[in-house]
Amino acid sequence: MPNNSLSDRVFEQAAARFPTPFHLYDEQGIRDRARRLKAAFSWCPDFREYFAVKALPNPAVLRILGEEGCGLDCSSATELMLAERCGFRGDAIMFSANAMPPEEFDQARALDAYINLDDLSDIDLLLAHGGIPETVCLRFNPGGDFAIGNTIMGNPGEAKYGMPADQLETGLFRLKALGAKAFGLHAFLSSNTMAPSYYPELAGILLRLGKSLSEKTALRFAFINLSGGIGIPYRPDQSEVDIRAVGDAIRQVYEAECPAGGVAVKSELGRWMTGPCGWLVTRAVHEKKIHRDYIGVDACAVDLMRPAMYGAYHHITVCGKGDQPLDHVYDVTGCLCENNDKFAVQRPLPEIHPGDLLVIHDTGAHGYSMGYNYNGRLRSAEVLRTRDGDFRLIRRAETPADYFATLDF
Ligand SMILES: *Cc1c(COP(=O)(O)O)cnc(C)c1O
Repeated sequence: MPNNSLSDRVFEQAAARFPTPFHLYDEQGIRDRARRLKAAFSWCPDFREYFAVKALPNPAVLRILGEEGCGLDCSSATELMLAERCGFRGDAIMFSANAMPPEEFDQARALDAYINLDDLSDIDLLLAHGGIPETVCLRFNPGGDFAIGNTIMGNPGEAKYGMPADQLETGLFRLKALGAKAFGLHAFLSSNTMAPSYYPELAGILLRLGKSLSEKTALRFAFINLSGGIGIPYRPDQSEVDIRAVGDAIRQVYEAECPAGGVAVKSELGRWMTGPCGWLVTRAVHEKKIHRDYIGVDACAVDLMRPAMYGAYHHITVCGKGDQPLDHVYDVTGCLCENNDKFAVQRPLPEIHPGDLLVIHDTGAHGYSMGYNYNGRLRSAEVLRTRDGDFRLIRRAETPADYFATLDF
């Protein structure tokens, strides 16, 4: 089920204060999820979530997550700057990038962040750009297909990230020669996965691999980083991943593989943390009946790209029409000159008229942040619903001046 925790009245109140379209985020919901995750890993004294900044790079949200004890996972110079300006540094930052400008290593090292190396060649780059820290993380890519039982969950063999096991070993010997004392292992093998066994399976893989690499290299195995990938129920027929059960299952794997403890567990969830706590609020502005029935709204793919990019499903409700039958079939579209600019295709919905307020669900991760400026369209605002039920504008909508700021006439 998509997150239906906010009533239509909340969206209507917000839309009375701020012009549509905007993303609305629920502070309490985000805090609740951070606390649920922490509780699920409370058995692990050294657990920490590093929120994937790219999912929702807004300072207000990053600070809320910081207050809940999360660190940040950054992958670019700008994300590092964002983290620093929000007060994160040192072991509260994980820097995981690939094919990045080497100066970003200098920047990450200046913040004393954890560095997650993506390739053997990164070792010499890091040596030349900030130096080798005592603890280094390495990203693992097992190749082939990643399957749990008979189900293929992803295909690392086609993924550009990480290193095969033999390269990890080579890399660790080199890092040791350069002064490293300890290492962590990271892998991201399946995205938006609803399988509760994904994280426990990955934990087992990384713990076994780390143990063997630690024996071979005599470097201390400091942590596993399970990265992101836990999915959310975008569709009404899906149910939430039981995060508590995931934590318990990892505990069993951990106690079997690592009875003496001492290996910390880290995560970099993006989607799971904030995805269900965001909604794109938009107004129907146009109605068109040709070969299909179309509802045009004032948001478009620049505000939420996932449907256009992946054909992703986002649930849509119409404020005040929750009890009406879904007896109309619409394509819900934006205004881009691109036929994939559709938030829904052939979707059963209640009858919609211009002026109706539509709520597009689960836009709290990889929503605003994937935005772009095609057609000279400007990105929307972001609004936070605070814990006391008030609304705070946490990013204004773009203006033409923003669009023209990079141009020289
Ligand atoms: C994107 C990303 C994440 C977050 O992924 P989700 O699917 O949002 O959980 C975590 N770590 C890294 C390195 C990523 O690139």
